[in-house]
Amino acid sequence: MKFLSKLIHGGISEDPHTGAVSVPIYQVSTYRQVSPGVHKGYEYSRTGNPTRAALEALAADLEEGIAGFAFASGMAAISTVLMLFRAGDHLILSSDVYGGTYRVMEHVFTRLGLSYTAVDTSKLEEVKAAITPRTRAILIETPTNPLLRITDIAAVSRLAREHGLLSIVDNTFMTPYLQQPLKLGADLVVHSATKYLGGHSDLVAGLVVVSREEFKERIHFLQNSVGAILGPQDSWLLMRGIKTLGVRMERHEENAGKIAAFLQGHPKVKKVYYPGLSTHEGHEIMKRQARGFGAMLSFEVESAEAAQKLLSRVKLITLAESLGGVESLISLPAAMTHASIPLEKREALGISDRLVRLSVGIEDVEDLIEELAYALD
Ligand SMILES: *Cc1c(COP(=O)(O)O)cnc(C)c1O
Repeated sequence: MKFLSKLIHGGISEDPHTGAVSVPIYQVSTYRQVSPGVHKGYEYSRTGNPTRAALEALAADLEEGIAGFAFASGMAAISTVLMLFRAGDHLILSSDVYGGTYRVMEHVFTRLGLSYTAVDTSKLEEVKAAITPRTRAILIETPTNPLLRITDIAAVSRLAREHGLLSIVDNTFMTPYLQQPLKLGADLVVHSATKYLGGHSDLVAGLVVVSREEFKERIHFLQNSVGAILGPQDSWLLMRGIKTLGVRMERHEENAGKIAAFLQGHPKVKKVYYPGLSTHEGHEIMKRQARGFGAMLSFEVESAEAAQKLLSRVKLITLAESLGGVESLISLPAAMTHASIPLEKREALGISDRLVRLSVGIEDVEDLIEELAYALD
């Protein structure tokens, strides 16, 4: 089945009992057993729920893994994956991973005995140099937030395998419609499904998809043990969002390409970060490993005041954190999503107070450009 068809018919797409073309919301916690331990595959909804199971099968289909797991949030998914490790283990992280990933690593998992090194994973030598005898995994994001740095997934996965390490990719920004890390050699994929997969800024959810049987058992064990599962209502809502992922991503990206071109030609814009621009570092890698460039972009204006002014003048484009919804969202990373990173570190990463991030929605692009032109002038 081709990808667009899989979005509609993948996983378990109908109710086998009634023929309903949408999987019902099984709002239930427990299941009648025929005799002790004999049941129809479900015993308790933390362990398994039919609505969640349909979503999990769909997630596995889309990422071409062998099993998927749904969690209460992207952070619940990432935290559960981090519980694969034990005290003393060391991980390598992309230096500009999602703020929440950095926070849980730095303030929760290091307390439990994990250690990590954050490196620019777009430079393979830096990744290689950070490997120690205790290293167990490399966790990357590509493109990163907010500077859209590109890491070569196949190269990092190969390096990980050579050293007996796990490779984990946060695929939130791309979705499996544009990029499939497991096919490039990664072991595990994680998602904040809150973003493009859900697509409508109306739910919080996370997914993990695994490539091999051994991870399937371990992640299921952790999902059931820790219990940060996605409920049946949100599982259903997420499946509903995923059905239109393909058409949404096409329009998101088309709009983003046009806006990137507009910004690049604007005299008050100093620099545009968008992987679709041929001048963007990593553009060629992106062409090789993804089917598109996504719809996240950042740009620098002349001063902090200009950035503040721009953000106070937008209306149609919503000033808000998060990304990946049908509506365009704009933010100032230095004051919002990345405010918890100490100033010197933020400056070193290139996240200045002149940098504006835009999650391009699927509104009419002419309206978006008109508003940006007004807000910039
Ligand atoms: C939002 C986000 C997360 C965290 O997901 P939540 O659903 O908010 O818990 C993780 N990684 C990336 C890249 C994100 O954008």
